[in-house]
Amino acid sequence: MSIDKDSHNNGGAAVDSNRRKFIKLTSMGALSAGLFGISSFTRADGKVLETKARIVIVGAGAAGISLANRLARATSGAEITIIDERERHLYQPGLTLVATGVWDTHSVLDSNSRYIPRSVKWLKNSVVQFDPDNNRVQTNDNSWIDYDYLLVATGLELNFSAIEGMDASLIGSKGIGCVYDNPEHASRTWQQMESFINEGGVGIFTRAPGAIKCAGAPLKVAMLFEHDLRQRNVRDRFDLQYTAPAVGLFSQPDVNEFLKGHFPERGININWNHRLTGIDADTKRATFATESGSQTLDYDFIHVVPPMQAPRPIRESSLAWDSGPFAVGGWLEVDQHTMQHRRYANVFGAGDCVGTPIGKTAASVKAQVPVVVHNLLRVMEGSSADASYNGYTSCPLITERGEAMLVEFDYDLKMIPSFGFINPMKAQWVPWIMKDKMLRGAYNAMLRGRV
Ligand SMILES: Cc1cc2nc3c(=O)[nH]c(=O)nc-3n(C[C@H](O)[C@H](O)[C@H](O)COP(=O)(O)OP(=O)(O)OC[C@H]3O[C@@H](n4cnc5c(N)ncnc54)[C@H](O)[C@@H]3O)c2cc1C
Repeated sequence: MSIDKDSHNNGGAAVDSNRRKFIKLTSMGALSAGLFGISSFTRADGKVLETKARIVIVGAGAAGISLANRLARATSGAEITIIDERERHLYQPGLTLVATGVWDTHSVLDSNSRYIPRSVKWLKNSVVQFDPDNNRVQTNDNSWIDYDYLLVATGLELNFSAIEGMDASLIGSKGIGCVYDNPEHASRTWQQMESFINEGGVGIFTRAPGAIKCAGAPLKVAMLFEHDLRQRNVRDRFDLQYTAPAVGLFSQPDVNEFLKGHFPERGININWNHRLTGIDADTKRATFATESGSQTLDYDFIHVVPPMQAPRPIRESSLAWDSGPFAVGGWLEVDQHTMQHRRYANVFGAGDCVGTPIGKTAASVKAQVPVVVHNLLRVMEGSSADASYNGYTSCPLITERGEAMLVEFDYDLKMIPSFGFINPMKAQWVPWIMKDKMLRGAYNAMLRGRV
């Protein structure tokens, strides 16, 4: 399948018509509601539940803060506590643009205090132990916090130690980059890329096996970098290699087929069944487990994507899956539709920590949170959970600076486009503008529980 381009300059009638629709949607404010998907489930009756319940939310990231805002509005008299020691808020979808030199770190930094509602008590601690049999969590100051209902929204943990010789402190030195860790490391990744651009050589772009957040990010980094080389007229001085741990590049089959053709067309060689197992930072050699045994590749720059897992307190608690595909990584055991824990009825989860077939994006968080709030209120009222999350996830798959494909799909891997005029299989300027200029606003509205 070849890419169907819709460049800024082709000036065709269809493009003009799409621009008009886009501008109209923007001015109507409809885009911010739809940017992370239009199918947000809201409580139909909109009533406020009077309750004295103690609700504890663990994690004040995208999911935790969004849950806090929605719950604060949907209840009266509840004692809502959010636990997270992190005070700064990271707009993680922007890290891809920081690591590729499009944005600076300032563009992804914010403060949690701007978003946590005043009626919610914020404990600036970290949960070190979950004890769901006794309805309590322990924090790192050795306090126990009792709850009636628990919402788990801790995000996930990057497991650099699964790669021998690799450590997060190496990011931004010795030709090593990683988009996933934090804004400072994303920025240093770009510095490494710039040095690499000046020198030329072999660039390796890796992808870890298993569930990772924003699975499009490693692909976007490779494509944006390749485009940058062409823009600078230095492409012929580079050998670019992408290593895939299995035989696919993306879970949605149409997009996967497209990418399998598109990467070689752009001269990015794909190495199938290559799992990064070790890095020798001093000699710039990477070791991979392959079908034919261990293989070592020399590089000048490497983009490292570590395996990801649920944070240790979840992994080591009875809240984690203990069998099946989500036991690897210790993900939170929730029903993939209701987001309710499968064994503890007073526990729900949202965001990257949950063990569901897909859904580690902010777009998924936006779809999950209203379902969790609705179902929690139902359970608090003595009814059963009846709202269902369909697995919605979305990725503005950036193919070049200025162009992206807006890919949206569900648990069945079926494309579910939010905007009729955006073809998900087309690299277009509209999804790029969304990613570059508009997603941040939509994300903030989601944090406030407004969309
Ligand atoms: C490079 C990159 C690119 C991305 N691109 C996109 C994109 O284009 N589109 C998209 O939709 N999504 C994208 N995402 C994914 C998106 O950012 C995440 O899916 C989303 O942030 C998940 O929200 P969360 O609340 O589950 O986790 P987070 O936002 O990570 O928040 C988790 C919070 O829990 C806290 N916490 C952890 N452990 C504990 C504990 N033990 N006790 C208390 N608190 C704890 C942490 O401090 C943190 O504040 C991207 C992510 C990255 C890294």
